[in-house]
Amino acid sequence: MEQETLLAQAGSRNDPVTGALSAPIYQSATFRHPALGESTGYDYSRTANPTRTALESTLAALDGGSRACAFASGMAALDAVFRLVRDDARRRVVVTEDPYGGTVRLLDQLFRPSGLVPTYVDTADTGAVEAELARGDVSLVLAEIPTNPLLRVADIAALARAAHGANALLAVDNTFLTPVLFRPLDHGADIAVYSATKYLGGHNDVVAGAVVCRDDALGQRVAFVQNAAGAVLGPMDAWLLLRGLKTLALRMERQAENALAIAEFLAAHPRVTAVRYPGLAGDPGHDRLLRQARGCGAVVSFEVDDAERVPHILKRVEIFSFAESLGGVESLITYPAVQTHADLAADVRDRLGISNRLVRLSVGIENVSDLLRDLETVLE
Ligand SMILES: *Cc1c(COP(=O)(O)O)cnc(C)c1O
Repeated sequence: MEQETLLAQAGSRNDPVTGALSAPIYQSATFRHPALGESTGYDYSRTANPTRTALESTLAALDGGSRACAFASGMAALDAVFRLVRDDARRRVVVTEDPYGGTVRLLDQLFRPSGLVPTYVDTADTGAVEAELARGDVSLVLAEIPTNPLLRVADIAALARAAHGANALLAVDNTFLTPVLFRPLDHGADIAVYSATKYLGGHNDVVAGAVVCRDDALGQRVAFVQNAAGAVLGPMDAWLLLRGLKTLALRMERQAENALAIAEFLAAHPRVTAVRYPGLAGDPGHDRLLRQARGCGAVVSFEVDDAERVPHILKRVEIFSFAESLGGVESLITYPAVQTHADLAADVRDRLGISNRLVRLSVGIENVSDLLRDLETVLE
């Protein structure tokens, strides 16, 4: 089955009794047992819930994985991935140096005190990752593709070979591209991890996360963490996500189309000094991303000529909303240095070029001429 079909019919065949096309919301914490030692397959909703199962099987199929686990947020999903590191001799995790800010907070403030050692490197530089792996104490590599907000592009197949050569796992935070544009497991990654709050949900109405594993044994370990630590996605939110997924392929296509038009407009604007969008032919990540992925997503970062202009832009936008997220049908504008990336150290932000002149757009599905006019007005 092609992805569009799988998506359109997400959850549609999960109720053979009534034939409900929309997966029922099983708002039940517990399930009656037929007899001692017997189960319908569902005992207690932390362990498994039928609405969540409908979602998880869709997510596993979408990524070509053997198992998917849905979590209460993207951070809970990442937390479950980091909990897989339990080898006392190999406590190091190599992570993209410009990751989602919450990933840094989780690693530095929650995992580091319990002995896990995060090392941040440019994962777009395979050699830099190999040099870390050569130290022999790395259990896990986590790469974001493309990174955010600088949109640097790693070579996932090369990272997978390097990680496996050193007996480490490769996890890819694929929030920005989604399985519609890129399937990390096809390129050798062991784990795809998502903030489903973003494109998978797509409507800025649910906070959710997911972990998809290539092999079943690893999937079972993630499911163990999901049940043991308990940061599960509730049935209502699982249903919202199933509902959002139905239009994922269409949304990604329209959002990427709008994003390219906006990136081209910004690149030609006299008050814009730099644009980062891998869909632009001149972008450093362009060729490398399109060798691996079917599209470039819809996040566009740009720098204005003067930081004083930024508050004015954020206040005056009328079609874009000044809000901290991405991936939904509504276009958003974010200020990474003070919002999403505030948890990076100031010197790291400077070195990475996350300056106070950098603004990030999440482009939605609106009519692009309205979006362009909005930007034109605030850049005047
Ligand atoms: C938003 C985001 C997260 C965190 O997900 P939540 O759903 O907000 O917990 C992790 N990684 C990336 C790339 C994100 O954009």
